[in-house]
Amino acid sequence: MHEMGIMAEVLESTLAAASDAGATRVNSIRLTIGELTGIVPDALEFAFEALSLGTIAEGGALEITVVPASSRCLTCGEEFSHDAYDRRCTACGSFLCEVLGGDELVISGADVDVPDPDPGPDPK
Ligand SMILES: [Zn+2]
Repeated sequence: MHEMGIMAEVLESTLAAASDAGATRVNSIRLTIGELTGIVPDALEFAFEALSLGTIAEGGALEITVVPASSRCLTCGEEFSHDAYDRRCTACGSFLCEVLGGDELVISGADVDVPDPDPGPDPK
């Protein structure tokens, strides 16, 4: 499954960043996914649940934002959003368009618990 490999990378990056920050728990991971990636959010959540077992992200939430694709028409310059199947210009009907967005996969944030730093010996 496509989503399993993607989630493995997302989780690896998130856990590495969380570990660098000294986090003991990942409460949630926010992802922004372009519609053109063809990623199925449900499959991604399933992959997250399976892959996070035994990590500090186990039981955490995955918050997925799907952004629609957008393109600019090369014929008339119109910018418009569209789905993955019909990418023709909404103004003039041309199919000569340049994709502006919708193919992204971005970790847009993660909510982690970082324990208070060890006070150590009293500096006073
Ligand atoms: Zn056009």
